[in-house]
Amino acid sequence: MSEPQLIAKQKETVARRAGGCCEYCYSQVRFSPDPFSIEHIIPRSKGGTDHEDNLALACQGCNNRKYNHVEARDSVSGNLVSLYHPRHQQWAKHFGWNEDFTLMIGLTPTGRLQDYGLIGGGGGGIVGGCNCCITTAKLACACK
Ligand SMILES: [Zn+2]
Repeated sequence: MSEPQLIAKQKETVARRAGGCCEYCYSQVRFSPDPFSIEHIIPRSKGGTDHEDNLALACQGCNNRKYNHVEARDSVSGNLVSLYHPRHQQWAKHFGWNEDFTLMIGLTPTGRLQDYGLIGGGGGGIVGGCNCCITTAKLACACK
């Protein structure tokens, strides 16, 4: 049985709301060689809906790494922690940048989950793991 497809209007609304940036790592669509996706923050497989509040614009790297995860184990405490939720949490509270904007830094247990490569990170807190994020992370996103 096929999954219902998001309608074009939903995709446009989500993309416009995101201001042209991945909602997880702030990569910019205009500098990405790969198309961005409209992803489900809470995956359909875990009860997420197609409502626009559950949809986020994500670069291919973040979308692939996040997959159907909603939580992961924090590298410091060992506790299970929810992944960053772009509708319910403020990005700047959980993430920051190093001085030259080449590394995204986790500031909280949720932010540290990037070390697992689940969101915005290809490991070790380095933004990327795909050419999209590595390329665009060097340019600070000014859209938020
Ligand atoms: Zn991203």
